[in-house]
Amino acid sequence: MRCNYCRKPARLMRRVCSPCAKVIVIVERSGGQVGIAGLVDLFIAEGLEREQVDAVLDAKIGGAPTIRDRLTSNLTNALMQGLGMPGRQTPDDVRRVREAMKSGAGAGTWSGGETPPGWSHG
Ligand SMILES: [Zn+2]
Repeated sequence: MRCNYCRKPARLMRRVCSPCAKVIVIVERSGGQVGIAGLVDLFIAEGLEREQVDAVLDAKIGGAPTIRDRLTSNLTNALMQGLGMPGRQTPDDVRRVREAMKSGAGAGTWSGGETPPGWSHG
C-alpha cells in the first residue's frame, strides 16, 4: 500500500503515511482560513519538510481539486468577502484555472484588472 499523497510506501492498510497525515491534520485544523503562507509556519513548527508538504498540497486524487486548490479558493473568497464581494470561487474553479494556465490554453486570456474565468457570475 502506497501513500495517496507522496507515493512512498505507507504502513499496511493505510493510504496515507504519517508525515502526510500530519500535513492534512494541520490544514484541517486551520479550517482553511490561514492560507498557504500562514500554514507554512505551522508546517515548519511541526518539523515537516517542504517536499512533503508540497506532495500533499498538490496531490491529485480521483480528479478532485487538490488541497492547494481548496486553500486558494478559500483564501480568494475570504479576500473578496472582505472587500464586500460575493466570493464564490470553488476549488474546482481554481483547478480549472490552474490547469488552463499550465496547458497554455488560458495563458494571456486574462490579466490584471480583468475578472479571471470561473469567478462569480454575479
Ligand atoms: Zn505520504
